[in-house]
Parts: sequence; structure tokens; C-alpha cells
Amino acid sequence: MDAYRPLDFYDLDDLFSEEERMVRDSVRAWVSERFLPGIMEHFENGTFPMELVPELAELGVFGPTTPEEYGGAGLNSVAYGIICQELERGDSGLRSFVSVQGSLVMWPILEYGSEEQKRRWLPAMAAGKKIGCFGLTEPDAGSNPGGMQTTARRDGDGWILNGRKMWITNGTVSDVGVVWARTPEGIRGFLVETGTPGYSAPEQKHKWSLRASVTSELVLEDVRVPDSARLPKAEGLKAPLSCLTQARYGIAWGGVGAAQACFDEALRYTKERIVFDKPVAAYQIPQAKLADMATKITNGQLMAWRLGRLKDAGRMTPAHVSMAKRNNVHLGLECARVCRDMLGANGISLEYQVGRHMLNLESVITYEGTHDIHTLAVGAELTGIPAFR
Ligand SMILES: Cc1cc2nc3c(=O)[nH]c(=O)nc-3n(C[C@H](O)[C@H](O)[C@H](O)COP(=O)(O)OP(=O)(O)OC[C@H]3O[C@@H](n4cnc5c(N)ncnc54)[C@H](O)[C@@H]3O)c2cc1C
Repeated sequence: MDAYRPLDFYDLDDLFSEEERMVRDSVRAWVSERFLPGIMEHFENGTFPMELVPELAELGVFGPTTPEEYGGAGLNSVAYGIICQELERGDSGLRSFVSVQGSLVMWPILEYGSEEQKRRWLPAMAAGKKIGCFGLTEPDAGSNPGGMQTTARRDGDGWILNGRKMWITNGTVSDVGVVWARTPEGIRGFLVETGTPGYSAPEQKHKWSLRASVTSELVLEDVRVPDSARLPKAEGLKAPLSCLTQARYGIAWGGVGAAQACFDEALRYTKERIVFDKPVAAYQIPQAKLADMATKITNGQLMAWRLGRLKDAGRMTPAHVSMAKRNNVHLGLECARVCRDMLGANGISLEYQVGRHMLNLESVITYEGTHDIHTLAVGAELTGIPAFR
């Protein structure tokens, strides 16, 4: 296959600054050269390429908007979005790893942490020397995290945590987990370090989606942490929800990246594949599919770009993010399914990307708020009437 040629039907390149384009090009090249050659094997083996973590750190993708004084690159949100787009062009598991590290662990430490927590964790996490996970979902509380059963109770100058989290990305490979628990004072967040007695993170196996990503349970049995492990400024459910807003922002860009990968592959495949003496791309039905996908991708690109500019201007709302996450992951999944079909039997081979993206996006459309939950979030914003319960 030739080098990747991403669709840019409306010359959106013009909308990005030189720095944003530079970031995009360096991540894009890294994904092509360093990540894609090994992804098929990792996907089959159900492993994340941990060996690439130092290179990802070198690229500057862990918490890129984190201020330089804490080891970050101090980039704007549009640049962060483009990073997510390019990483997800490689694999949703790769983007997930980076989203969790940056948006779900570094961001809450920066936003809600003490100065000591920031100094201790942020530079090490930006450098990829420490890995984090985010434990909110439980076996019986996903879409409604307010129903969590995990508890934390005061014990002298510390806290005792008990409970179980599920579907936690990077859990098994993490050095620290941001664990959300119910306390008599409301929901609070704790930094629980691997190795703390009573804490374990067994891996969840047998996934057919996001196979190149580690997913884990977090088990907390009388885990004692000092009060200095609590995120002091995180109070109530709005704290974990605000972290999810950050991560969903990146996912909105990522959905476009996955769609781009599939579209590019299907376009070149259908131009080369001969059926009934002509290329597949010479027939009207495949052309209609390509036209539909190109339109959806262009819509998604514009939505992500505008969302990023709103975020950088401090005007982005959670409902803006819900609309973009919902739209762009859905378009990614739709494109992946259509492209899978356009490749015929080859579409089910991991030698091609479309099937892998299609499987991955089934997770992405569920996690960080399911498609339907984001429908309700937008509906609530439009009508002023929440229909969640
Ligand atoms: C691969 C993977 C990685 C993940 N990583 C993490 C992680 O790192 N950290 C973390 O905390 N969580 C993580 N999750 C969990 C994820 O966020 C949850 O799975 C998600 O929020 C949905 O929760 P649930 O699975 O319990 O589904 P449920 O809440 O049980 O939903 C089931 C169905 O009911 C629908 N539904 C729910 N409520 C309503 C309603 N009010 N009205 C209409 N329909 C409704 C949903 O849309 C869905 O279709 C991950 C999940 C996956 C698959």
C-alpha cells in the first residue's frame, strides 16, 4: 500500500496554524513508521505495544496541553485534538492509552491536585515513566456513575477504600489509579498506587474490540491511603464528569482519524480491485458509498475543528462535546462498516485496517458515555428537560 493520503476535501489545512500542522505531521509520520508495522500482531495477541511508550513520550503526546513547568508541552487544545486524530488513525487502542494518561489522569491531577501531587506525578507521566488509569465504572454502574458502590471512609489521618471497578483502560500496566469513591462527604478522587496492600488490577481477557489495549478490573479490599493521596479540590460527581469531558473532546477528533484510515484504504483498494473487468470504484454503488463517507468525514472534521477553537477560547460546554463525540464516533463506525464491506473478503483480514477499526469503534461508541447517553445530553441541552431517568 502507498503512503497514507488523508481526505481533505475542503482544504481544511488552511484552518490550522503552522504549529498545529507540524504536530499533526510528526504524529502522522510516527504512526505510519513506528506503530502500524506492529499493530496486527499486537491486536492478535491482545497486547499494547508498551515498548513504544518512550517514543510516545518523546513525541510529546502525553498531556500535551499540560504547562511546561509540569513537564508538558503547553500546546493548545486543537493541537491535542489533532494528536488524538492521528493516533486513532493508527488504532483506537493507541489513542485510548494516550487519552487516559493525559485527559483522565494528568488533567485531574493538574485541575484538582495539590502542588505536591502535581510535582510528583505530572513530569513523570509526561515522560512516560509513570502510567495512570482512571477508575470510575463499576460492574453495576456505567452510564450512571452516581450509582457507584466503591466507598472510602476516614481512618485516622487516612482513608480506607473498598470496592470494585471494571473496564479500566491501562489498569494492569499502571503505576497509579485515579479511583473515584463514595464518602460520607460525597464522591471523592484518590490516587492509589500499585503495590498498595489490598489493591490489584487483574486484566480482563477475551475482548474482540480494543484488543491492542489493556482493560482491567480494579479490586480494592481495605486499601489504606493517606489523606495526601486524595485529590483535594475534587468534590462530587462533577469532578470525574469534568475529566470525561476532556477525554471525550479527544475522542471526537479520534473518530475522524479512524474514519480517515478506513476511507483511505477503501478508496485505494476499490481503485485497484478489478471486478467484471473494471475497478470496483468505477461502479455507481461504490461511488455513492465513497461520496457519503467523504461528506461525513468532512462534517466531522469541521465539527472537531470548531469544537477545538471553542475549547481554546474557553467557550466549549459539555453538551458541545457530547454532540461531537456522538457524531464523530458514529461516523467512524459507519465508515468502518461500509469500508469493511467494500474490501470484500479482504475486509475481514487483519492485513487490512478496516476490520480492526470497525471492531475497535464498537468500544469507542460505548465508552466515555454511550451514543444514546450523549443523545440524551444534547436533548437535555436543547429542551432543558433531562430524560436520563
Ligand atoms: C474497552 C473499554 C474501555 C473502558 N475504559 C474505561 C476506563 O478507563 N475507565 C472507566 O471508568 N470506564 C471505562 N469503560 C467503561 C465505559 O465507560 C462504560 O462501559 C460505559 O459508560 C457504559 O456503561 P455500561 O457498560 O455499564 O453500560 P450500561 O450503563 O449498562 O448501558 C447499557 C445500555 O443501556 C443504555 N442506557 C443506559 N442508560 C440509559 C438511559 N438513561 N436511557 C436510555 N438508554 C440508556 C446505554 O446507552 C446502553 O446501550 C470502558 C469500557 C470499554 C468497553
